[in-house]
Amino acid sequence: ALSVRGLSRNFGNLVVLDDVSFTLQAGRIAVVLGPNGSGKTTLLRCVVGADRPDAGEVRVQGRRADETDPQVRALMAAALDDIDFFPDLSVVEHLELVAYAHGGNAEPVEEVLAELGLEPARDQLPVTLSSGQRRRLALASCFVRPRRVLILDEPEQRLDVRGRQWLADRLRREREAGTAVLLASHDPELIDAVVDERIEIGR
Ligand code: ATP
Repeated sequence: ALSVRGLSRNFGNLVVLDDVSFTLQAGRIAVVLGPNGSGKTTLLRCVVGADRPDAGEVRVQGRRADETDPQVRALMAAALDDIDFFPDLSVVEHLELVAYAHGGNAEPVEEVLAELGLEPARDQLPVTLSSGQRRRLALASCFVRPRRVLILDEPEQRLDVRGRQWLADRLRREREAGTAVLLASHDPELIDAVVDERIEIGR
């Protein structure tokens, strides 16, 4: 489902990604492993198109993901660290907008709200949410839209114990649905529980 070839990214003299290649089939879960600062977030950002690599290409279902093909980008749902929510939209309005913008096939907003425990916060604006609730909203945004590839940057962060149990279960369901899941994670329990493939960088 996802193919990354020869991805490189430098910031000035700093070589962060050096010729990274991997493929990820549908219904597989891969984790990007590497110490702090090794480029995991940079890799995920380049894959989803939030950052532009200096070299290399990303393909989804054989089609090159670049700026000229928004349909390919639309196959990838991502929860990265720097998600900006619309400041004037409530939690439920945000999810409805994301679902609407991506067309059919999405899971119902009400179900996702309940699954993520966001019902009590449904009418709140993003600025009034706790950091854990904001993370949950970022994750929820991925599930109300169609996706062939799901990209999560340290999704365990700021989740409570039950949230982490939910996360492992949800990732297994994504795998069963045939989604290719790419995550960065420092959580050995989550990795042992769900991961099929390990992509090591920066070593
Ligand atoms: P962590 O495990 O701490 O989350 P990481 O593996 O995700 O780290 P990145 O966030 O990808 O690491 O950062 C990799 C390196 O790239 C770091 O040295 C960082 O300072 C540098 N870097 C990332 N983004 C930029 C940028 N926009 N400009 C300059 N340097 C950057």
